[in-house]
Amino acid sequence: MKQSESRSTTSVDVAVIGAGAAGLMAAIAAARQDSSKTLKILLLDTRPKIGAKILISGGTRCNVTNRRVTPSDYYGGPSHFVKHILEAFSPDQTRNFFEEIGVPLVLEVTGKYFPTTHSGKTVLEALMKECARLGVILKTECRITQIKKEGDRFHLKGDGVDSTSRRVVLATGGLSYPETGSDGTGYKIAQSLGHTLVPTAAALTPLLCQDEDWQSLSGIALEAALYFYENGKKKEESRSALLFTHFGFSGPSALDISRFWARSSADKHPEIFARFLPEENEETLKKILDAQAKAASGQRVKRFLMERFAFPERFVEIIIKKSGVDETRSVAKLLAPQKSALIRYLMNCPLPITGVYGYKKAEVTSGGIPVSEVKNATMESKRTPGLYFAGEILDVDGRIGGFNFQWAWSTGTVAGRSAVKSLAA
Ligand SMILES: Cc1cc2nc3c(=O)[nH]c(=O)nc-3n(C[C@H](O)[C@H](O)[C@H](O)COP(=O)(O)OP(=O)(O)OC[C@H]3O[C@@H](n4cnc5c(N)ncnc54)[C@H](O)[C@@H]3O)c2cc1C
Repeated sequence: MKQSESRSTTSVDVAVIGAGAAGLMAAIAAARQDSSKTLKILLLDTRPKIGAKILISGGTRCNVTNRRVTPSDYYGGPSHFVKHILEAFSPDQTRNFFEEIGVPLVLEVTGKYFPTTHSGKTVLEALMKECARLGVILKTECRITQIKKEGDRFHLKGDGVDSTSRRVVLATGGLSYPETGSDGTGYKIAQSLGHTLVPTAAALTPLLCQDEDWQSLSGIALEAALYFYENGKKKEESRSALLFTHFGFSGPSALDISRFWARSSADKHPEIFARFLPEENEETLKKILDAQAKAASGQRVKRFLMERFAFPERFVEIIIKKSGVDETRSVAKLLAPQKSALIRYLMNCPLPITGVYGYKKAEVTSGGIPVSEVKNATMESKRTPGLYFAGEILDVDGRIGGFNFQWAWSTGTVAGRSAVKSLAA
Protein backbone atom coordinates (compact mmCIF):
# COMPACT_ATOMS: atom_id res chain seq x y z
CA MET A 1 0.00 0.00 0.00
CA LYS A 2 1.26 3.46 -0.79
CA GLN A 3 1.85 5.54 2.31
CA SER A 4 0.40 9.00 1.82
CA GLU A 5 2.93 11.59 0.67
CA SER A 6 2.41 14.28 3.28
CA ARG A 7 0.18 15.43 6.09
CA SER A 8 -0.79 18.60 4.26
CA THR A 9 -4.00 18.90 2.30
CA THR A 10 -4.40 16.03 -0.13
CA SER A 11 -7.04 15.65 -2.75
CA VAL A 12 -8.37 12.20 -3.56
CA ASP A 13 -11.24 10.59 -5.43
CA VAL A 14 -12.53 8.16 -2.80
CA ALA A 15 -11.75 8.38 0.91
CA VAL A 16 -12.62 5.32 3.00
CA ILE A 17 -12.78 6.18 6.69
CA GLY A 18 -11.94 3.18 8.89
CA ALA A 19 -9.68 0.30 7.85
CA GLY A 20 -11.56 -2.54 9.52
CA ALA A 21 -13.16 -5.40 7.58
CA ALA A 22 -15.72 -3.15 5.87
CA GLY A 23 -13.27 -0.36 5.03
CA LEU A 24 -10.59 -2.69 3.65
CA MET A 25 -13.20 -4.39 1.49
CA ALA A 26 -14.62 -1.05 0.33
CA ALA A 27 -11.13 0.19 -0.66
CA ILE A 28 -10.42 -3.04 -2.58
CA ALA A 29 -13.79 -2.96 -4.35
CA ALA A 30 -13.32 0.70 -5.25
CA ALA A 31 -9.81 0.12 -6.63
CA ARG A 32 -10.92 -2.97 -8.59
CA GLN A 33 -13.83 -1.03 -10.05
CA ASP A 34 -11.45 1.68 -11.31
CA SER A 35 -10.59 0.15 -14.68
CA SER A 36 -8.65 3.28 -15.72
CA LYS A 37 -6.34 2.87 -12.69
CA THR A 38 -6.19 6.62 -12.39
CA LEU A 39 -8.28 7.24 -9.28
CA LYS A 40 -6.74 8.05 -5.91
CA ILE A 41 -8.24 5.87 -3.22
CA LEU A 42 -7.35 6.79 0.35
CA LEU A 43 -7.93 4.49 3.32
CA LEU A 44 -7.69 6.20 6.72
CA ASP A 45 -7.63 4.81 10.22
CA THR A 46 -7.20 6.11 13.73
CA ARG A 47 -5.03 3.27 14.87
CA PRO A 48 -1.32 2.80 14.14
CA LYS A 49 -2.05 -0.82 13.22
CA ILE A 50 -5.23 -1.65 11.34
CA GLY A 51 -7.63 -4.59 11.38
CA ALA A 52 -7.52 -5.29 15.13
CA LYS A 53 -10.94 -6.99 15.11
CA ILE A 54 -9.96 -9.30 12.27
CA LEU A 55 -6.98 -10.43 14.35
CA ILE A 56 -8.96 -11.14 17.55
CA SER A 57 -12.09 -12.49 15.86
CA GLY A 58 -13.26 -16.08 16.22
CA GLY A 59 -10.72 -16.63 19.02
CA THR A 60 -8.03 -15.31 16.60
CA ARG A 61 -9.16 -17.86 13.97
CA CYS A 62 -11.48 -15.37 12.18
CA ASN A 63 -14.84 -16.86 11.28
CA VAL A 64 -15.03 -15.23 7.84
CA THR A 65 -18.54 -16.27 6.81
CA ASN A 66 -21.13 -19.03 7.08
CA ARG A 67 -22.38 -21.83 4.81
CA ARG A 68 -25.89 -20.39 4.99
CA VAL A 69 -26.48 -16.70 5.44
CA THR A 70 -30.02 -15.37 5.36
CA PRO A 71 -31.69 -12.13 6.45
CA SER A 72 -33.06 -13.98 9.49
CA ASP A 73 -29.49 -14.15 10.84
CA TYR A 74 -29.58 -10.37 11.30
CA TYR A 75 -31.43 -7.88 13.46
CA GLY A 76 -32.04 -4.18 13.05
CA GLY A 77 -32.55 -3.06 9.46
CA PRO A 78 -35.41 -4.63 7.48
CA SER A 79 -34.83 -8.06 5.95
CA HIS A 80 -35.48 -6.94 2.35
CA PHE A 81 -32.55 -4.53 2.64
CA VAL A 82 -30.27 -7.19 4.12
CA LYS A 83 -31.37 -9.70 1.46
CA HIS A 84 -30.52 -7.28 -1.33
CA ILE A 85 -27.04 -6.65 0.03
CA LEU A 86 -26.35 -10.36 0.62
CA GLU A 87 -27.38 -11.07 -2.97
CA ALA A 88 -25.17 -8.28 -4.29
CA PHE A 89 -22.13 -9.90 -2.66
CA SER A 90 -22.97 -13.37 -1.41
CA PRO A 91 -21.14 -15.81 0.88
CA ASP A 92 -20.16 -17.78 -2.28
CA GLN A 93 -18.59 -14.65 -3.73
CA THR A 94 -16.89 -14.04 -0.39
CA ARG A 95 -15.32 -17.49 -0.49
CA ASN A 96 -14.19 -17.00 -4.09
CA PHE A 97 -12.77 -13.59 -3.24
CA PHE A 98 -10.72 -14.94 -0.35
CA GLU A 99 -9.54 -17.91 -2.40
CA GLU A 100 -8.46 -15.49 -5.11
CA ILE A 101 -6.40 -13.35 -2.68
CA GLY A 102 -4.73 -16.48 -1.32
CA VAL A 103 -6.96 -17.32 1.66
CA PRO A 104 -8.78 -20.61 1.04
CA LEU A 105 -11.50 -21.23 3.61
CA VAL A 106 -12.45 -24.42 5.37
CA LEU A 107 -15.98 -25.34 6.45
CA GLU A 108 -16.59 -26.61 9.97
CA VAL A 109 -19.52 -28.80 11.00
CA THR A 110 -21.12 -25.77 12.65
CA GLY A 111 -21.45 -24.14 9.19
CA LYS A 112 -18.71 -21.62 9.97
CA TYR A 113 -15.93 -20.88 7.47
CA PHE A 114 -12.40 -20.20 8.72
CA PRO A 115 -9.16 -19.66 6.83
CA THR A 116 -7.37 -22.99 6.40
CA THR A 117 -4.51 -21.48 8.43
CA HIS A 118 -6.97 -20.89 11.32
CA SER A 119 -5.47 -17.46 11.75
CA GLY A 120 -7.05 -14.02 11.42
CA LYS A 121 -3.57 -12.74 10.60
CA THR A 122 -3.72 -14.53 7.23
CA VAL A 123 -6.99 -12.75 6.43
CA LEU A 124 -5.71 -9.31 7.42
CA GLU A 125 -2.39 -9.71 5.62
CA ALA A 126 -4.11 -10.84 2.41
CA LEU A 127 -6.53 -7.89 2.49
CA MET A 128 -3.65 -5.47 3.07
CA LYS A 129 -1.61 -7.06 0.30
CA GLU A 130 -4.51 -6.73 -2.10
CA CYS A 131 -4.92 -3.05 -1.15
CA ALA A 132 -1.22 -2.53 -1.80
CA ARG A 133 -1.38 -4.34 -5.15
CA LEU A 134 -4.22 -2.09 -6.21
CA GLY A 135 -2.43 1.11 -5.17
CA VAL A 136 -4.74 2.04 -2.27
CA ILE A 137 -3.13 4.80 -0.16
CA LEU A 138 -3.18 3.91 3.53
CA LYS A 139 -2.88 6.55 6.23
CA THR A 140 -2.82 5.34 9.80
CA GLU A 141 -2.99 7.38 13.03
CA CYS A 142 -5.53 9.65 11.35
CA ARG A 143 -8.70 10.10 13.34
CA ILE A 144 -11.28 11.91 11.28
CA THR A 145 -13.40 14.17 13.46
CA GLN A 146 -15.24 16.24 10.90
CA ILE A 147 -16.49 15.84 7.34
CA LYS A 148 -18.13 18.74 5.53
CA LYS A 149 -19.58 18.75 2.06
CA GLU A 150 -18.40 21.80 0.16
CA GLY A 151 -19.81 21.91 -3.37
CA ASP A 152 -19.19 18.51 -4.93
CA ARG A 153 -16.27 17.63 -2.62
CA PHE A 154 -16.02 16.47 0.95
CA HIS A 155 -13.59 18.18 3.28
CA LEU A 156 -12.12 15.74 5.80
CA LYS A 157 -10.53 17.04 8.97
CA GLY A 158 -9.00 15.31 11.94
CA ASP A 159 -5.85 14.39 13.77
CA GLY A 160 -3.10 14.20 11.19
CA VAL A 161 -5.28 14.76 8.13
CA ASP A 162 -6.73 17.57 6.09
CA SER A 163 -7.99 16.18 2.79
CA THR A 164 -10.68 16.60 0.24
CA SER A 165 -12.41 13.79 -1.59
CA ARG A 166 -15.06 13.41 -4.26
CA ARG A 167 -16.63 10.41 -2.52
CA VAL A 168 -16.53 9.19 1.08
CA VAL A 169 -17.19 5.70 2.46
CA LEU A 170 -17.86 5.80 6.20
CA ALA A 171 -16.77 2.46 7.67
CA THR A 172 -15.88 3.49 11.21
CA GLY A 173 -17.62 0.59 12.96
CA GLY A 174 -19.71 1.02 16.09
CA LEU A 175 -18.81 1.11 19.78
CA SER A 176 -17.81 -2.48 20.41
CA TYR A 177 -14.35 -3.33 21.75
CA PRO A 178 -13.28 0.35 21.82
CA GLU A 179 -9.60 -0.52 22.16
CA THR A 180 -9.74 -1.70 18.53
CA GLY A 181 -10.39 1.90 17.43
CA SER A 182 -14.18 2.10 17.17
CA ASP A 183 -15.26 4.97 19.39
CA GLY A 184 -18.52 6.14 17.81
CA THR A 185 -17.06 9.21 16.02
CA GLY A 186 -18.53 7.90 12.79
CA TYR A 187 -22.06 8.27 14.19
CA LYS A 188 -21.42 11.95 14.98
CA ILE A 189 -19.99 12.55 11.52
CA ALA A 190 -23.01 10.88 9.90
CA GLN A 191 -25.37 12.92 12.08
CA SER A 192 -23.59 16.12 11.03
CA LEU A 193 -24.30 15.07 7.43
CA GLY A 194 -28.05 14.77 8.03
CA HIS A 195 -28.44 11.23 9.39
CA THR A 196 -30.29 10.04 12.45
CA LEU A 197 -29.16 7.30 14.82
CA VAL A 198 -31.04 4.25 16.03
CA PRO A 199 -30.00 4.18 19.72
CA THR A 200 -27.11 1.79 20.12
CA ALA A 201 -26.59 -1.08 22.58
CA ALA A 202 -23.92 -3.69 23.10
CA ALA A 203 -24.63 -6.99 21.35
CA LEU A 204 -22.88 -10.38 21.43
CA THR A 205 -21.65 -9.50 24.90
CA PRO A 206 -21.56 -11.69 28.05
CA LEU A 207 -24.43 -11.70 30.55
CA LEU A 208 -23.77 -10.63 34.14
CA CYS A 209 -25.04 -12.56 37.15
CA GLN A 210 -24.21 -12.08 40.85
CA ASP A 211 -25.41 -15.54 41.92
CA GLU A 212 -22.46 -17.25 43.58
CA ASP A 213 -23.72 -20.74 42.77
CA TRP A 214 -23.65 -20.07 39.03
CA GLN A 215 -20.38 -18.15 39.33
CA SER A 216 -18.82 -21.14 41.10
CA LEU A 217 -19.26 -23.12 37.86
CA SER A 218 -16.78 -20.83 36.05
CA GLY A 219 -15.06 -22.70 33.24
CA ILE A 220 -17.84 -25.24 32.61
CA ALA A 221 -19.46 -25.23 29.16
CA LEU A 222 -22.71 -27.01 28.26
CA GLU A 223 -25.01 -27.12 25.27
CA ALA A 224 -28.06 -25.08 26.34
CA ALA A 225 -31.03 -23.25 24.96
CA LEU A 226 -31.68 -19.78 26.39
CA TYR A 227 -35.08 -18.12 26.26
CA PHE A 228 -35.59 -14.38 26.49
CA TYR A 229 -38.90 -13.17 27.94
CA GLU A 230 -40.45 -9.72 28.20
CA ASN A 231 -43.57 -9.10 30.28
CA GLY A 232 -43.93 -12.86 30.74
CA LYS A 233 -43.90 -13.60 26.98
CA LYS A 234 -41.23 -15.58 25.20
CA LYS A 235 -39.64 -13.34 22.56
CA GLU A 236 -36.39 -14.94 21.45
CA GLU A 237 -34.27 -18.00 21.91
CA SER A 238 -30.72 -19.09 21.20
CA ARG A 239 -29.24 -22.53 21.35
CA SER A 240 -25.57 -23.29 21.44
CA ALA A 241 -22.74 -23.63 23.96
CA LEU A 242 -23.24 -21.82 27.26
CA LEU A 243 -20.11 -20.99 29.23
CA PHE A 244 -20.26 -20.31 32.98
CA THR A 245 -17.85 -17.55 34.04
CA HIS A 246 -16.84 -15.85 37.29
CA PHE A 247 -19.07 -12.89 36.34
CA GLY A 248 -22.03 -14.70 34.78
CA PHE A 249 -22.52 -16.38 31.40
CA SER A 250 -20.74 -16.30 28.07
CA GLY A 251 -20.40 -18.62 25.06
CA PRO A 252 -22.44 -18.31 21.85
CA SER A 253 -25.78 -19.04 23.51
CA ALA A 254 -25.41 -16.17 26.03
CA LEU A 255 -23.79 -13.82 23.50
CA ASP A 256 -26.56 -14.33 20.95
CA ILE A 257 -29.35 -13.56 23.45
CA SER A 258 -27.54 -10.57 25.03
CA ARG A 259 -28.69 -8.00 22.47
CA PHE A 260 -32.31 -8.51 23.53
CA TRP A 261 -31.48 -7.98 27.19
CA ALA A 262 -29.33 -4.92 26.35
CA ARG A 263 -32.13 -3.40 24.24
CA SER A 264 -34.82 -4.09 26.83
CA SER A 265 -35.74 -1.99 29.88
CA ALA A 266 -36.82 -2.69 33.46
CA ASP A 267 -40.46 -1.77 32.74
CA LYS A 268 -40.61 -4.68 30.24
CA HIS A 269 -39.46 -7.14 32.93
CA PRO A 270 -36.83 -8.96 30.89
CA GLU A 271 -36.04 -12.50 32.02
CA ILE A 272 -33.81 -15.29 30.73
CA PHE A 273 -34.45 -18.98 31.29
CA ALA A 274 -32.12 -21.87 30.47
CA ARG A 275 -32.90 -25.35 29.19
CA PHE A 276 -29.91 -27.50 30.00
CA LEU A 277 -31.29 -30.46 28.03
CA PRO A 278 -32.23 -28.76 24.76
CA GLU A 279 -33.13 -32.06 23.08
CA GLU A 280 -35.76 -32.86 25.73
CA ASN A 281 -38.87 -31.19 27.04
CA GLU A 282 -40.49 -31.33 30.49
CA GLU A 283 -42.60 -34.32 29.54
CA THR A 284 -39.83 -36.42 28.04
CA LEU A 285 -37.58 -35.69 31.02
CA LYS A 286 -40.36 -36.74 33.40
CA LYS A 287 -40.69 -39.99 31.44
CA ILE A 288 -36.94 -40.59 31.72
CA LEU A 289 -37.05 -40.03 35.48
CA ASP A 290 -40.16 -42.24 35.84
CA ALA A 291 -38.53 -45.04 33.84
CA GLN A 292 -35.44 -44.82 36.05
CA ALA A 293 -37.65 -44.91 39.16
CA LYS A 294 -39.37 -48.05 37.83
CA ALA A 295 -36.03 -49.70 37.17
CA ALA A 296 -35.53 -49.35 40.93
CA SER A 297 -31.78 -49.42 40.58
CA GLY A 298 -31.31 -47.43 43.75
CA GLN A 299 -28.99 -45.06 41.88
CA ARG A 300 -28.79 -41.67 43.54
CA VAL A 301 -30.03 -38.58 41.71
CA LYS A 302 -26.59 -37.00 41.36
CA ARG A 303 -24.94 -40.07 39.86
CA PHE A 304 -27.93 -40.68 37.57
CA LEU A 305 -27.86 -37.11 36.16
CA MET A 306 -24.12 -37.31 35.58
CA GLU A 307 -24.23 -40.70 33.87
CA ARG A 308 -27.46 -40.30 31.89
CA PHE A 309 -26.78 -36.78 30.58
CA ALA A 310 -22.99 -36.47 30.85
CA PHE A 311 -23.37 -33.40 33.04
CA PRO A 312 -20.26 -32.28 34.96
CA GLU A 313 -20.41 -33.14 38.67
CA ARG A 314 -20.17 -29.51 39.89
CA PHE A 315 -23.08 -28.53 37.65
CA VAL A 316 -25.26 -31.36 38.97
CA GLU A 317 -24.45 -30.37 42.55
CA ILE A 318 -25.69 -26.81 41.90
CA ILE A 319 -28.87 -28.04 40.18
CA ILE A 320 -29.57 -30.37 43.11
CA LYS A 321 -28.92 -27.55 45.59
CA LYS A 322 -31.13 -25.06 43.74
CA SER A 323 -34.02 -27.48 43.25
CA GLY A 324 -33.95 -28.51 46.92
CA VAL A 325 -33.56 -32.21 46.11
CA ASP A 326 -32.34 -34.45 48.91
CA GLU A 327 -29.14 -35.74 47.33
CA THR A 328 -29.10 -38.87 49.43
CA ARG A 329 -32.25 -40.08 47.69
CA SER A 330 -32.39 -42.40 44.76
CA VAL A 331 -34.38 -41.36 41.70
CA ALA A 332 -37.01 -43.93 42.71
CA LYS A 333 -37.47 -42.28 46.12
CA LEU A 334 -37.75 -38.70 44.87
CA LEU A 335 -40.81 -36.93 46.25
CA ALA A 336 -43.15 -35.48 43.60
CA PRO A 337 -42.41 -31.78 44.47
CA GLN A 338 -38.68 -32.53 44.33
CA LYS A 339 -39.06 -34.21 40.97
CA SER A 340 -41.00 -31.19 39.64
CA ALA A 341 -38.35 -28.78 40.99
CA LEU A 342 -35.59 -30.83 39.41
CA ILE A 343 -37.38 -30.82 36.05
CA ARG A 344 -37.92 -27.06 36.34
CA TYR A 345 -34.26 -26.33 37.11
CA LEU A 346 -33.08 -28.46 34.23
CA MET A 347 -35.68 -27.43 31.67
CA ASN A 348 -36.78 -23.91 32.54
CA CYS A 349 -34.19 -22.57 34.89
CA PRO A 350 -34.46 -18.86 35.75
CA LEU A 351 -31.08 -17.17 35.36
CA PRO A 352 -30.84 -14.11 37.64
CA ILE A 353 -29.26 -11.81 35.06
CA THR A 354 -28.29 -8.36 36.33
CA GLY A 355 -27.12 -6.83 33.07
CA VAL A 356 -24.71 -7.23 30.17
CA TYR A 357 -20.95 -6.80 30.13
CA GLY A 358 -21.29 -3.88 27.70
CA TYR A 359 -19.31 -2.54 24.76
CA LYS A 360 -15.95 -3.39 26.34
CA LYS A 361 -16.54 -7.07 25.56
CA ALA A 362 -19.19 -6.76 22.84
CA GLU A 363 -18.43 -8.39 19.50
CA VAL A 364 -20.78 -6.01 17.75
CA THR A 365 -23.00 -2.96 18.23
CA SER A 366 -26.74 -3.07 17.69
CA GLY A 367 -28.37 0.14 16.46
CA GLY A 368 -26.56 2.71 14.34
CA ILE A 369 -27.34 4.54 11.11
CA PRO A 370 -30.80 3.42 9.94
CA VAL A 371 -30.65 1.62 6.61
CA SER A 372 -33.85 3.40 5.60
CA GLU A 373 -31.58 6.44 5.09
CA VAL A 374 -29.34 4.47 2.69
CA LYS A 375 -29.99 3.30 -0.90
CA ASN A 376 -29.81 -0.49 -0.92
CA ALA A 377 -28.55 -0.75 -4.50
CA THR A 378 -25.45 1.35 -3.76
CA MET A 379 -25.13 1.95 0.02
CA GLU A 380 -25.20 5.67 -0.79
CA SER A 381 -26.70 8.05 1.72
CA LYS A 382 -30.16 9.36 0.82
CA ARG A 383 -29.31 12.48 2.83
CA THR A 384 -25.87 13.41 1.47
CA PRO A 385 -25.12 12.31 -2.09
CA GLY A 386 -21.58 11.04 -2.49
CA LEU A 387 -21.47 9.63 1.06
CA TYR A 388 -21.55 5.82 1.41
CA PHE A 389 -21.80 3.49 4.40
CA ALA A 390 -20.36 0.05 5.12
CA GLY A 391 -20.20 -2.36 8.05
CA GLU A 392 -21.09 -2.16 11.68
CA ILE A 393 -21.84 1.59 11.65
CA LEU A 394 -25.23 0.65 10.20
CA ASP A 395 -28.22 -0.51 12.20
CA VAL A 396 -27.73 -4.19 11.31
CA ASP A 397 -26.14 -6.74 13.63
CA GLY A 398 -25.76 -10.44 13.04
CA ARG A 399 -25.69 -13.41 15.32
CA ILE A 400 -22.55 -15.44 16.05
CA GLY A 401 -21.28 -17.51 13.12
CA GLY A 402 -19.50 -15.26 10.59
CA PHE A 403 -22.60 -13.17 9.85
CA ASN A 404 -21.11 -9.87 11.00
CA PHE A 405 -18.06 -10.21 8.80
CA GLN A 406 -20.32 -11.20 5.89
CA TRP A 407 -22.21 -7.95 6.44
CA ALA A 408 -18.89 -6.06 6.38
CA TRP A 409 -17.69 -7.82 3.17
CA SER A 410 -21.05 -7.34 1.39
CA THR A 411 -21.69 -3.72 2.34
CA GLY A 412 -18.01 -2.83 1.82
CA THR A 413 -18.06 -4.27 -1.68
CA VAL A 414 -21.30 -2.56 -2.69
CA ALA A 415 -20.24 0.80 -1.21
CA GLY A 416 -16.72 0.78 -2.74
CA ARG A 417 -17.90 -0.30 -6.18
CA SER A 418 -20.79 2.14 -6.24
CA ALA A 419 -18.65 5.08 -5.13
CA VAL A 420 -16.34 4.55 -8.12
CA LYS A 421 -19.18 3.80 -10.56
CA SER A 422 -20.79 7.09 -9.61
CA LEU A 423 -17.60 8.96 -10.55
CA ALA A 424 -17.82 7.58 -14.07
CA ALA A 425 -21.50 8.45 -14.40
C1 LIG B 1 -13.69 -10.26 19.94
C2 LIG B 1 -14.47 -10.23 18.64
C3 LIG B 1 -14.61 -11.40 17.91
C4 LIG B 1 -15.34 -11.37 16.72
N1 LIG B 1 -15.42 -12.50 15.97
C5 LIG B 1 -16.12 -12.49 14.81
C6 LIG B 1 -16.12 -13.61 13.94
O1 LIG B 1 -15.40 -14.58 14.17
N2 LIG B 1 -16.92 -13.56 12.84
C7 LIG B 1 -17.67 -12.45 12.52
O2 LIG B 1 -18.38 -12.48 11.52
N3 LIG B 1 -17.62 -11.36 13.27
C8 LIG B 1 -16.85 -11.33 14.40
N4 LIG B 1 -16.77 -10.19 15.14
C9 LIG B 1 -17.47 -8.99 14.66
C10 LIG B 1 -16.65 -8.33 13.54
O3 LIG B 1 -15.32 -8.19 13.99
C11 LIG B 1 -17.25 -6.96 13.21
O4 LIG B 1 -18.58 -7.12 12.83
C12 LIG B 1 -16.48 -6.30 12.07
O5 LIG B 1 -15.12 -6.21 12.40
C13 LIG B 1 -17.03 -4.92 11.77
O6 LIG B 1 -16.23 -4.37 10.78
P1 LIG B 1 -16.22 -2.80 10.50
O7 LIG B 1 -15.14 -2.59 9.52
O8 LIG B 1 -17.58 -2.32 10.22
O9 LIG B 1 -15.81 -2.14 11.91
P2 LIG B 1 -14.44 -2.25 12.72
O10 LIG B 1 -13.81 -3.56 12.52
O11 LIG B 1 -14.76 -1.80 14.09
O12 LIG B 1 -13.50 -1.19 12.01
C14 LIG B 1 -13.71 0.19 12.14
C15 LIG B 1 -12.38 0.89 11.91
O13 LIG B 1 -12.61 2.30 11.84
C16 LIG B 1 -11.60 2.97 12.54
N5 LIG B 1 -12.15 4.25 12.96
C17 LIG B 1 -13.16 4.48 13.83
N6 LIG B 1 -13.42 5.78 13.93
C18 LIG B 1 -12.54 6.41 13.09
C19 LIG B 1 -12.32 7.76 12.76
N7 LIG B 1 -13.04 8.76 13.29
N8 LIG B 1 -11.33 8.06 11.87
C20 LIG B 1 -10.57 7.07 11.30
N9 LIG B 1 -10.75 5.77 11.59
C21 LIG B 1 -11.73 5.44 12.48
C22 LIG B 1 -11.24 2.04 13.69
O14 LIG B 1 -9.95 2.28 14.17
C23 LIG B 1 -11.39 0.67 13.04
O15 LIG B 1 -10.17 0.22 12.50
C24 LIG B 1 -15.99 -10.17 16.30
C25 LIG B 1 -15.81 -9.00 17.04
C26 LIG B 1 -15.03 -9.01 18.19
C27 LIG B 1 -14.86 -7.72 18.95
